[in-house]
Amino acid sequence: MLAQAREVLENLLRYAFDGQHAQLRMMRTKGTLASVAWKPREEDPDIRVRISRVVLGWPEPALIGLLGHELCHPIAGVDDPQPEHNADVECVERGLGAYLALERAYTGRYHDQRPRGRGRDRYLGYASIRAMLDGRDINSLDRLLRDSGVVPHLAAAHPAQETVVTVTTIDGQVIIEDRTGPLPIHTFPVTRPE
Ligand SMILES: [Zn+2]
Repeated sequence: MLAQAREVLENLLRYAFDGQHAQLRMMRTKGTLASVAWKPREEDPDIRVRISRVVLGWPEPALIGLLGHELCHPIAGVDDPQPEHNADVECVERGLGAYLALERAYTGRYHDQRPRGRGRDRYLGYASIRAMLDGRDINSLDRLLRDSGVVPHLAAAHPAQETVVTVTTIDGQVIIEDRTGPLPIHTFPVTRPE
């Protein structure tokens, strides 16, 4: 399963991140979906992405959205007070908006969310990301939603206070952890044509 996730990451790096390098490991911390650590201002940023065991069972497009967001953190940086918002915008600008929107729908994040204790920072919700996409990307998003059996669901929306982001610096290495509350995931069975 981890091998599959690594393949997804490798493809992402090749096609959307100019062949950059990054490592993928499992994480031990509970309640965190994914984290990314890197060394800013160094020639080799040594990007390390960690994912929770939970996401190994996700539909592949949702995993692509999650990993795309993590890989955008080193590009968006942390000097700005809105690292989560900037990572999301970077992700959309790299052409990954349909995957990011699907990930937000899958994890019940319909609206933007302000992470607790992070000032004006916010995660973009499904609705905001969809509004940023052009017609072709909206078609892709609708196809991904249909193929994954994911229904964007307003009632499933998380209260914003359940979202927590931690940003720490250890030995010159920045670590961002993207956490969420319990994930209400809403899907319907996909009926395939005979
Ligand atoms: Zn993040």
